[in-house]
Amino acid sequence: MQQPVIIVGGGMVGLSLALMLAKAKIAVKLLEAIRYPEYQDTNSIPYHSSFDARNSALSRRSVQIYQHLGIWDALQQHATPILQVHITEQGSFGKARLIAEQEQVESFGQVIENAWLGRVLLQQVHQQPLIELIDGVTVTKLTQDDAQVYIEAERNQEQLTLRSQLLIAADGRDSFCRKALGVGVDEHDYQQMAIVTTVQTSKPHQHVGFERFSPLGPLALLPLPGEYRRSVVWPVTKGTEQEWLGAENDQHFLDALQQTFGDRAGRFEKTGQRFCFPLAQVLAHRQAVGRVVLMGNAAHTLHPVAGQGFNLCLRDADVLLRFLTQQQSISDDLGQPEILTAYEKARLPDQQRVIKFCDGVVRGFSNNNPLLKIVRNTGLLAFDFIPGIKPFVANYAMGLKA
Ligand SMILES: Cc1cc2nc3c(=O)[nH]c(=O)nc-3n(C[C@H](O)[C@H](O)[C@H](O)COP(=O)(O)OP(=O)(O)OC[C@H]3O[C@@H](n4cnc5c(N)ncnc54)[C@H](O)[C@@H]3O)c2cc1C
Repeated sequence: MQQPVIIVGGGMVGLSLALMLAKAKIAVKLLEAIRYPEYQDTNSIPYHSSFDARNSALSRRSVQIYQHLGIWDALQQHATPILQVHITEQGSFGKARLIAEQEQVESFGQVIENAWLGRVLLQQVHQQPLIELIDGVTVTKLTQDDAQVYIEAERNQEQLTLRSQLLIAADGRDSFCRKALGVGVDEHDYQQMAIVTTVQTSKPHQHVGFERFSPLGPLALLPLPGEYRRSVVWPVTKGTEQEWLGAENDQHFLDALQQTFGDRAGRFEKTGQRFCFPLAQVLAHRQAVGRVVLMGNAAHTLHPVAGQGFNLCLRDADVLLRFLTQQQSISDDLGQPEILTAYEKARLPDQQRVIKFCDGVVRGFSNNNPLLKIVRNTGLLAFDFIPGIKPFVANYAMGLKA
């Protein structure tokens, strides 16, 4: 008989993957360290470290994945489409513009509030009989032999022991499971902190997403539900973040946005509370070890500059699902190491493309060398004239190329 698959980590990736597996009739035990909020009060949006004040730009491919899961209608209530993308650099003349209509697509993706995404995913998980959700438990030990993976977990004073033929580790950037497996990482600290918040502008966003490269860091301004609300992600140099946090710095922050952005968005009128996140690239040396597979940030944590991290994780999850459903049709043992190794191999090209792209953008635009600045300007200008480049970049950004 097929054993339930164990997923460690109920963040955005763990919950999404659990739903995808359950839809394919694969039973799941999902273990999460944090205690989720109660669900009786359907009006409150739960707080969970993974579903914080951030917003995520979901690519068209990610939207398709949620459509297939049958939950896009619910997610859409707090999502807004991106119909144009403008890329500029402060103090430079170059400008790249992508327009959905010209690329003959409905949109380049959707911006969703993480808190809403988390709430919908959790509600779905609660309703899914094939998922056993065990929250408030921390996995503290992981071992495996040829046939099984064994874990120990702590819940208050209680000790849980579980086993499965397949364990999926979606336990985040500092993954305990990855360390327990002895898998090393390549880590690059960008020495940046992302300042994240929601702002209100005097001009409506008209569904335009902006990426503006500034000496302080690359600033992303994305449309949110509500005509004048926009999501801000602004990576600044580590050590300078306190200057932007706290209610006493609201006006200072708005002024800096205004100065960096000019009047493209009108006046920056209001800002919400700012939160900050340290930015690093963390890449696991291996993603499949015996009967364990690493997913999400545990496998690859990226700089958020192009909003690709979670989208890449969802594509990984989609491909893993395909491998597992194929395996399910021939055997009850879903954790056969060859299957997981084949999955890892299949995913490497897409992962490496996205990793190189995100890292290249951060490094390329963080350099103030005047020569590089000219190259960037020419690149942004040429973007409007090189035939074929727009559909290529648009497809890339929409996650449809993989
Ligand atoms: C500022 C910022 C903006 C971003 N914007 C975008 C965007 O626009 N588009 C996009 O595609 N991506 C974006 N990303 C990337 C995206 O947020 C990540 O890809 C995503 O959060 C990864 O989720 P995860 O579930 O893998 O990890 P996490 O969210 O870290 O979840 C891991 C979970 O595992 C649990 N856990 C950890 N250890 C244990 C244990 N021992 N036992 C049990 N449970 C455990 C944790 O409690 C946590 O809930 C952004 C990232 C940042 C920092």
